[in-house]
Amino acid sequence: MTTNTSLIDAASVEFTEAFNAFKETGDFLALTQPFEQGLTNQENADLMFSLEQATAKLLDTGVLVIEPNELAQPLKNIVISSGIHGNETAPIEIVNQMLKDIVQGQRKVAHRTLFIIGNPVSMNISKRFSVENLNRLFCGKYKDIAPCYEKERAEKLESYVRNFFNHVGSNFAPNAATTYHYDLHTAIRPSKHEKFAIYPYQGDKPWDKEQLAFMRACGVNTILFGHAPSGTFSYYSSANFSAHAFTVELGKVRGFGENDMSKFADAYNTLSAFVSNEDLKLKAFDNADFNLFKVLGDITKYTDNFKLNVADDVSNFTDYPAGTLLAEDEQNYQTSHEGESIVFPNANVGINQRAALMVIPCQL
Ligand SMILES: [Zn+2]
Repeated sequence: MTTNTSLIDAASVEFTEAFNAFKETGDFLALTQPFEQGLTNQENADLMFSLEQATAKLLDTGVLVIEPNELAQPLKNIVISSGIHGNETAPIEIVNQMLKDIVQGQRKVAHRTLFIIGNPVSMNISKRFSVENLNRLFCGKYKDIAPCYEKERAEKLESYVRNFFNHVGSNFAPNAATTYHYDLHTAIRPSKHEKFAIYPYQGDKPWDKEQLAFMRACGVNTILFGHAPSGTFSYYSSANFSAHAFTVELGKVRGFGENDMSKFADAYNTLSAFVSNEDLKLKAFDNADFNLFKVLGDITKYTDNFKLNVADDVSNFTDYPAGTLLAEDEQNYQTSHEGESIVFPNANVGINQRAALMVIPCQL
């Protein structure tokens, strides 16, 4: 595979050949890998093609919108994103398989759907990111950092999602569709609950129980309720477009070809059925089916003497008895609640930054 190190002319012979192959195979990964930096001159290239009862249009490297010729009811606009962290290959393979099914005519798309492979540059070097963590740069936070690939990509991804939800370039006028964004990830750190989802902070809005039932159908029954605005991709869609949105952690990071895709079958099947408007037969929400967590607070690193008393490879959602001294610093951190659990611990952060998030079980 040859990788281009600059933007590629979408009307070039090289790209046109690759795109024509994609129209046959639906292999979105094969179309994305060689053109990691993105496309230019899209307006002079023919990036649209017909599917059975739908039209597909490539917007950029790793960004493809599919519109059915007739919209199913109730109206839905759906974003399914993967590879925002480049080494998280299983979600990319899920999206790739969905697109193969669709392009090869084995699955129909009934709702406007935007498919994304988020960070092709870091994907090609099997890294979480190349310069900056892309999933901290949304909601305009990319403006605060120095020029780099992720800064540009965050700005472009925001605009593609904004245009999609606003029906820019769509065959359909803006309508009252319900909006959805499932941002699929896998994690480096082991987790006591292998699959979990972060439900972005909702402010005054209630948590949506039907969406939790949908997550469960995707094989995800551990939910962490967000406690504050953030720069994640799912929060961007939730806060700006009222999308039902989640950051979905589907298990452990592995390389391409090393994923046991049967472990992701629930997510793949449920998302596929969702875009096809099949009856999902969701089981009504029941607290007993879930591990729900709310945020208690942060463990903050105040000085260079900070010491986090947990193993480097501790699993997310590991819980400690009340009274456990978890961090020593100018200000110690001692657990105070039954079932208090740690997520995303990282002692190697800057002064006054979060070294871990502490959560406790809750119910809806
Ligand atoms: Zn990730």
